[in-house]
Amino acid sequence: MTKPAPITIPTEPIGSIPRPADLIERVAKGDSEDTDLSALYEDAIRDTIERFEATGSPVVTDGEQRKHHNFATYCVHGLPNTAPDGFKIPFSDGHMRRLPRLTRGPFRYKRYADSYLDVATRYAHVPVKQAVISPSALSLLYPAERIRDYSREEFIVDLLSEHEIEIRRCLEKGAHKVQVDFTEGRLAVKIDPSGHLLNSFIELNNLALSRFTPEERRRLGVHTCPGSDFDSTHSADVDYAELLPSLFALKVDSFYIALAGGRDHPHVLKIIRKYLKPGQRIFVGVTAPADPRIETPEEVRDRVLEASEYIPVEQLGTTDDCGFSPFSDDTSTSRDTAFAKIQARVLGTALAERLIGAR
Ligand SMILES: [Zn+2]
Repeated sequence: MTKPAPITIPTEPIGSIPRPADLIERVAKGDSEDTDLSALYEDAIRDTIERFEATGSPVVTDGEQRKHHNFATYCVHGLPNTAPDGFKIPFSDGHMRRLPRLTRGPFRYKRYADSYLDVATRYAHVPVKQAVISPSALSLLYPAERIRDYSREEFIVDLLSEHEIEIRRCLEKGAHKVQVDFTEGRLAVKIDPSGHLLNSFIELNNLALSRFTPEERRRLGVHTCPGSDFDSTHSADVDYAELLPSLFALKVDSFYIALAGGRDHPHVLKIIRKYLKPGQRIFVGVTAPADPRIETPEEVRDRVLEASEYIPVEQLGTTDDCGFSPFSDDTSTSRDTAFAKIQARVLGTALAERLIGAR
């Protein structure tokens, strides 16, 4: 009797790993483009990838060590045509982050994320994924009042083009996946409960994603979460029922959905089951970066088994709920804790895989 092929449940990180303390200190003191910092960045990236691979993670990232100052504005940081007083993101613990504001056109990225892949792939022995920021997040850079001689329409044309260039460069350089960070999706429902803002974000992102072939989209994914900064969130009170039906309209194959840190897992899994489309792979969050307690592999295993009751196993994957420090100065989680949680994700997913395979 031939044995059935073993099932595989892919497992991937989201992206960020807390930066080493000495790097955070040095960046806080001066210019993050300071050439003296290059060696520190390089050490941080090499160490991150070594430790990532030591967890057994089949896919790694560079831990976004060089994304200053965060997952959203790394590509525009330092542009002369921006001012610091842009869109405000309030978090549940009372602190606030701000996006830059565009002051004049044309809009061009200062750097593309494939430059991070250049370094990461020098050190990595396993596939490397790359997260990029969504057009919808960057659309918030354009101010409410019109910029003279540079309309919002002109801005959107430039934005979509820059985003497409960034994704293509990452794909060409062999990124295992290119994950579009879409944390503002859930925030959009909080800001505008009518759903209009969310739908305009989905439309905008799909304008960019439609430029890719179905083949290319197999390597594209989207991450959604309620935000994560200093262990607090910006939109955890928004029900997934308001978000997921629209989210699954995005033209990508992989979805990375925060789940572990939420309250009612069956409620969310039922919504996923209802709106999931054929060919889509749902990577459910099985570890919660905002929870200081390190999950055990057995807990992760049970979370995967629970998810497999709702999501067909050939469409299931696992991930962390979010990056471990999407903002570079977030010291709420240590590197040790982050890697211990990642190891629990990897081990727990493998335990579930064996049990499901033996069914
Ligand atoms: Zn996230």
